[in-house]
Amino acid sequence: MGTSAFHRGASAAADEPPVPFARTEICPEARLAAQLVLESGWVSAGPQTGLFEREFADRVGARHAVAVSSCTAAIELALRALRLPERSMVMVPTLTFCGAAQAVVHAGLLPLLVDVEPGTGMPSAATVARAAKDCGQPQAMMVMHYGGAPAPLGELAEAAGLPMRRVVEDAAHALGTYVGDRPVGALSQAACFSFYATKNLPIGEGGMVTTDDGDLAESVQRARLHGMSADAWRRHLPGGRWQYTVDDAGLKANMTELQASIGRAQLHHLSDWQHRREDLAAHYTSRLRAVPGLALPSAPPEGRHAWHLYAVRVMDHYGMHRDELVARLAEQGIGTSVHFIPLHHLWYFRRSALRPPSGLPGADGLFPQLLSLPLHPGLTEDEVDRVCDALAGLARGSASGAAEAPRMKADSS
Ligand SMILES: *Cc1c(COP(=O)(O)O)cnc(C)c1O
Repeated sequence: MGTSAFHRGASAAADEPPVPFARTEICPEARLAAQLVLESGWVSAGPQTGLFEREFADRVGARHAVAVSSCTAAIELALRALRLPERSMVMVPTLTFCGAAQAVVHAGLLPLLVDVEPGTGMPSAATVARAAKDCGQPQAMMVMHYGGAPAPLGELAEAAGLPMRRVVEDAAHALGTYVGDRPVGALSQAACFSFYATKNLPIGEGGMVTTDDGDLAESVQRARLHGMSADAWRRHLPGGRWQYTVDDAGLKANMTELQASIGRAQLHHLSDWQHRREDLAAHYTSRLRAVPGLALPSAPPEGRHAWHLYAVRVMDHYGMHRDELVARLAEQGIGTSVHFIPLHHLWYFRRSALRPPSGLPGADGLFPQLLSLPLHPGLTEDEVDRVCDALAGLARGSASGAAEAPRMKADSS
């Protein structure tokens, strides 16, 4: 952050506390619940986990929920439960988190990268159909609700030529997303949620598989704990049986009691937090609408946006490249992020994932424009105003904008 008199004059924000990209909110009841678990002497998998699963399943309208160690593990376990032949092709959007595609690889399957529409950051029926035409019929598809915006599940499955029982949702951004009038949770064969520190229901680490399919739930339940027969943790309870069976090479990916107790307490705040995210997103949109060269995310005509991210596109006529804008905002203490580096730009996936020979031009064009602004329930309207003022001030044509930038920088050093 600049500290010279000039810089203070140029930017009133320079002396204000930073606006971090994310802050993890852990409610006081969660801290108390965690302490009670620690005092109870039962800290690994146990009864809190079962209660959290029940409450979470009800919340998203699914029959079953199985708590696991991360969303990445949730995706791997859900895909394994489909019991596809080894190296089966699974469609994955190229604009997603690397862990989602790594889970496909660890499940013994082959990611087929699908291009995205620049307007949504997500595959469309057209890009899915093109990938299937160029690379062959996939056996399954991952659908990701980018930033919390509802993806058109039905259309995408149809374009891929797949029944819904071969669709698994990466719902890491989609706790609170509705597709039409139904929440993400039991719309496809399985939905995989994340409780990572920055997600809409933060625990720190953790994940959940939700489904209406009892067999899939049971399969994930076993596989998350070494493939041992269900409820294996009970063998350490008084009177518990020590015997178990193992039919499969399972993972060690169960949730702990500590995580589950925090998650249960956090869940009581989720509705308030979602409303807060909606209000803050609307505030961003009303303030940024007049800034030239920024394309803003919009609320969907149908369904509901979970507003995990507020990701704007920095277009050419903004007058400054995204990378420089990130640096200039950081100078003013404003944290931002980019979601995501397309998978086909990463060394590992260039070698190990399939992609259409005609390339992935939608993602290539969109990636350099993407900029995620701070958005979390603890953010204040004043902080949003500071971010918006900074974005307006750096835009081409503004008094302190892009064209003036080099001179200002020199003067202030
Ligand atoms: C965060 C995230 C994941 C991974 O979640 P973890 O719980 O950290 O494993 C997967 N996919 C997307 C789109 C994400 O944003």
